[in-house]
Amino acid sequence: MELFAVPDLPEIRAGDDLAALIAERADFEAGDVLCVASTVVSKAEGRAADLADFPASDRAEAIAARLAELTGEEKDPRFAQAVLEESEELVIEAPFILAVTRFGHTTVNAGIDRSNVPGHDLLLLPENPGASAERLSEALGIPVIVTDTSGRPFRHGQRGVALGWAGMPASRDWRGEHDRDGRELGVTVQSVVDELAGAANLVAGEGDGGTPAVVVRGFEFGDHEGSNELFRSEEDDLVRQALRAWEFGE
Ligand code: GDP
Ligand code: MN
Ligand code: MN
Repeated sequence: MELFAVPDLPEIRAGDDLAALIAERADFEAGDVLCVASTVVSKAEGRAADLADFPASDRAEAIAARLAELTGEEKDPRFAQAVLEESEELVIEAPFILAVTRFGHTTVNAGIDRSNVPGHDLLLLPENPGASAERLSEALGIPVIVTDTSGRPFRHGQRGVALGWAGMPASRDWRGEHDRDGRELGVTVQSVVDELAGAANLVAGEGDGGTPAVVVRGFEFGDHEGSNELFRSEEDDLVRQALRAWEFGE
C-alpha cells in the first residue's frame, strides 16, 4: 500500500469546488481511496466563523467562567457557545469540553479549530461529513474519507480519524473468520476508515504543509463482511454514560 499527498492545492475558500481542485492535480487509479482533511472540506463549505457570530448564553458564560477558574487561562464564553451550538451533548464541561457533535463524533470542543483559518476566528467541522464524503466520492469516482485530527482517552497524542466516508464500508468484520489456530474470531470489527485516516494524517501533517488531500493506493478491503457502524449510539456507549455521572474534582 502506498500513500501520497495531492500536490499544490491552493488555500481553500468558501464556495470552492474542492473535488475539481483535487481532480486537476491527481490521476486516480481504480482501487484508490482519497482521504481529505475536514479543514478544507469545512472551508469549501463556508464553515469558517467568528466569535461574534456566537453571542454567549447564560450556560456558555457559566461553562467559560468555570474553565477559566480551573485553568487560570482566559476563556471566551462565545467559544463555549459555538461548541454548544455544534453539539448534541456535552459529556464533560470541565476541565475541558468533551462534546458529541450533531453527526455523532465525540471530541474535545466539538472539533472546532482555531488554526489554519486565515481571516476568521474559528473553523467548524463540516455539518454532515458523511454527506460531504458522498458528494466528493460521486464527483471523483473513488471512495472518500473525510478526516480530522482528534485526541483520544488513555493515551497522549492525537491521530487522524474518519468523520465521514463514502464508497466503502467503515469496517471489516472479522467475526466468524478464523485465526491461525482455527479459533473463530468473536469480536473483531476493524475500523478500516479510521486506520486509513490515521495513515493519511501522517502524510497530511498538522502545520503549514498544505497537503490536506492524500491518495491511498493499493489498499485492499479483501473478502470480508463490511459494516458501516462507527460512532457508538448513546445506549451502546458505556464510557459516555459513566462520564455523564462524573464530576471533575469531586
Ligand atoms: P484537520 O486535521 O482537518 O483539522 O486539518 P489541519 O489543520 O491539521 O491541516 C491538515 C493539512 O491540511 C496540513 O498539511 C495543512 O497545512 C493543510 N491545509 C489546511 N488548510 C489548507 C488549505 O486551505 N489549503 C491547503 N493546500 N492546505 C491546507
Ligand atoms: Mn481539525
Ligand atoms: Mn490535523
